[in-house]
Amino acid sequence: MKYRREYSRSAHRVVYGEHTFRSKLEAQWAVFMDALSIKYDYEPYSFLLDEGIGYCPDFWLPNYDSFLEIKPAGALAEREMEKALLWVEFNGDLVILEGFPIRKGHSLIGTNTRPVFTRDSIRWGECPRCRTIVLSDNGEPNCNCFDLEELEDMFSGASPEVDFTKTTRLKEAYRIARKHSFTTRNRVLPLQTLMDFC
Ligand SMILES: [Zn+2]
Repeated sequence: MKYRREYSRSAHRVVYGEHTFRSKLEAQWAVFMDALSIKYDYEPYSFLLDEGIGYCPDFWLPNYDSFLEIKPAGALAEREMEKALLWVEFNGDLVILEGFPIRKGHSLIGTNTRPVFTRDSIRWGECPRCRTIVLSDNGEPNCNCFDLEELEDMFSGASPEVDFTKTTRLKEAYRIARKHSFTTRNRVLPLQTLMDFC
């Protein structure tokens, strides 16, 4: 019986690249970031709550100064929310990516955010000029390739609007991530290794 319990607990884990992820969902988001050459650390930091319970955001993106938490689609449990808020108070904003990698808005928890929890506000975007990938409000680039006037014209309809969230590279990353369904128990090679053969 002991064996079975251990088996079922580890059955959800997914080995992808250098990491053993706790869920397929986390591994799929790792594939998404690999497809975009976004550097990430998996569970590098944990935070000890008063009650002795740890909280450990799933990803740290060093070049984005962002912590990511991956959650199945649906509401955050109250307990999860409490832990996340405590984390945010001491460690800064937390972006929550919900569900499978698809083009949609994500949530942000931040003490400087009003309200503290915003839904569907954060999106992956790409600057069509310098091709920088961002994780920002509506996927708007923050690279200064567009001046404010240009952005205002776009969003007011005065000039053609560019959808920063729907570029070829982003669409391809979503496609690749979803294709990795991690249904076999075999070790899956990191995306970079696979791409080297293409
Ligand atoms: Zn740019």
